[in-house]
Amino acid sequence: KDQHNAEIFTKPKITFEDVAGLDEVKEELIEVIDFIKKTEKYKKMGAKIPKGILFYGPPGTGKTLLASAVAGETKSAFFSASGSEFVEKYVGVGAKRVRALFEKAKKEAPSVIFIDEIDAIGARRHLESNNEKDQTLNQLLVELDGFNTDQTVVVIGATNRLDLLDEALMRPGRFDRHMYIGNPSMKAREDILKVHTKNKPLSSEVSIADLAKKTHGMSGAHLSNIANEAAIIAVRENQEVISSKHFDLAIERVVAGLQVKNPNVL
Ligand code: ATP
Repeated sequence: KDQHNAEIFTKPKITFEDVAGLDEVKEELIEVIDFIKKTEKYKKMGAKIPKGILFYGPPGTGKTLLASAVAGETKSAFFSASGSEFVEKYVGVGAKRVRALFEKAKKEAPSVIFIDEIDAIGARRHLESNNEKDQTLNQLLVELDGFNTDQTVVVIGATNRLDLLDEALMRPGRFDRHMYIGNPSMKAREDILKVHTKNKPLSSEVSIADLAKKTHGMSGAHLSNIANEAAIIAVRENQEVISSKHFDLAIERVVAGLQVKNPNVL
């Protein structure tokens, strides 16, 4: 892998329509989208554009999807990186990558930088210091403080563990907006299943509402897996459409997979 390319750069076509549920978070993000679209107006009014947003909550709930939708909605360049990819064996490499990432994002502005697993760089610093991690975190703080409102760059960090993060990251002007992305409600599960069966031929007896009831506690990622597994099972059985039997088998598989990984889930 290229030393200075810890991130992927795309122009996503994903919009809020592809993200089901999460209505309150979307509501809050509409404000951010407006900032990105009308930077000039806000600047003239003397308003500061928010720089950093933290998405926190359990895995597979659509944090990455939502961040790319912010880029899609604003036609911004989308830089996606994972915190764990920044911290390397060699001191200074992570910091260099962070610097390179922000440089590129500024050049392509308007940009959205998404840093998944931000706790890998942003976890609270301890007495026994980890030089490489600390330097990487310091560089991230420098970058957040450094760019001015001339460049529309919004940074979205994601973590499953908000409580682990260093307070320095959360100061005003840094990651000062926190948005909880939780597991979907029954209605949201229904909507997510609708998104993920949109282009799949379903038997008329399939009830998405029933499937939503049967999948309590599951994330959007699980639901998308179930829809895909059900389609695969239907193909294997040489069927033309996906039936509720296929969905039931798919749910069983996903539940079994969860129990292997974590016997306490469900
Ligand atoms: P992690 O914390 O593990 O990185 P995440 O919260 O970033 O997870 P995503 O990668 O966004 O989760 O979600 C994985 C996949 O699950 C998405 O690509 C999408 O297919 C599906 N998904 C999750 N949440 C939703 C949602 N709210 N609406 C539609 N699809 C969803």
